[in-house]
Amino acid sequence: MRFDIGDNVSGQRPSWAKRGVIVQEREGAKAQGQLVVVATPLGNLGDISRRALEILESADVVYCEDTRHSNKLFSAYAIAVRSRLESLHEHNEASQCARIVERVRSGDTVVIISDAGTPGISDPGTRVVAAVAAAGLVVSTVPGPSAVIAALSVSGLDTERFVMEGFVPRKRGDREHLYEQWATETRTVIFYESPQRVATTLEELAQRFGSRRAAVARELTKLHEEVIRGTLADLAQQFLTREVLGEIVVVLEGAEPPSPVDEATLRDALLDQLASGASVRDAASFVAEELGVSRRSAYRLALELRDEQSH
Ligand code: SAM
Repeated sequence: MRFDIGDNVSGQRPSWAKRGVIVQEREGAKAQGQLVVVATPLGNLGDISRRALEILESADVVYCEDTRHSNKLFSAYAIAVRSRLESLHEHNEASQCARIVERVRSGDTVVIISDAGTPGISDPGTRVVAAVAAAGLVVSTVPGPSAVIAALSVSGLDTERFVMEGFVPRKRGDREHLYEQWATETRTVIFYESPQRVATTLEELAQRFGSRRAAVARELTKLHEEVIRGTLADLAQQFLTREVLGEIVVVLEGAEPPSPVDEATLRDALLDQLASGASVRDAASFVAEELGVSRRSAYRLALELRDEQSH
């Protein structure tokens, strides 16, 4: 089912929206107050959770990034929040922290939401959470959508171990530095990208790791949702010629793990180094670096080899 803005503008509160039905207040939270980090939809308003609606209804204050944006959600669910709205964005987050801590300390339930997805994930919220937690106050979550997890889950790539890189930097030098790290990153890599830059980024990546697989997840949960999967070379080619609109997450397959080095290879390399006059320590460091094995195991074997030679 797809919910559109205005689907529920009757002003009637749905029967489940009674305080306490869905939101179970943490023991003592009301007396102490709490900060609640609430996830909101990425696009399809039907993805809001019941707990999220209930806490939005009952919170003493709701901090949001862009009130015009969040008003679409509030009006679709007839949540009367206007008099309880405050703003929280990247330019005022630092200055809002002290005020939010005071409100939580005074017993208020303070909700933070962002324009879409989970606050704090490439969005404001991290500093507020840190400040409230540092003050020894309760920080709670109403979890839900996040583009990073949504994209990973439909990418078809390994989900066992992954790393989130946020937005790819705009400066070429910074991007090059990141790509160097990705050359040996064996976990799945996820990053946010703008529609204007995605073709260039895919092209740069294809030049380095063309055969690695990737998925471009666009407009997830929205009318034009699509996930384009292929090698980086394929994707770079496709994106050269197509017009790209909307919101995008790129998921990139991790690098092949280095093949394990067998002991004979390690021994030979160490013997070569020792024969050329290197100390045990230098031989071990050099070979560990060259073959990608741990210094400790190279050092242990180099010691054994030296002892064998001296007998
Ligand atoms: N906090 C958000 C979250 O948890 O998903 C992310 C906020 S970040 C400022 C916004 C970026 O998330 C967009 O530029 C895009 O890369 C990605 N994004 C958000 N909604 C998306 C969607 N529906 N489909 C694909 N990517 C999306």
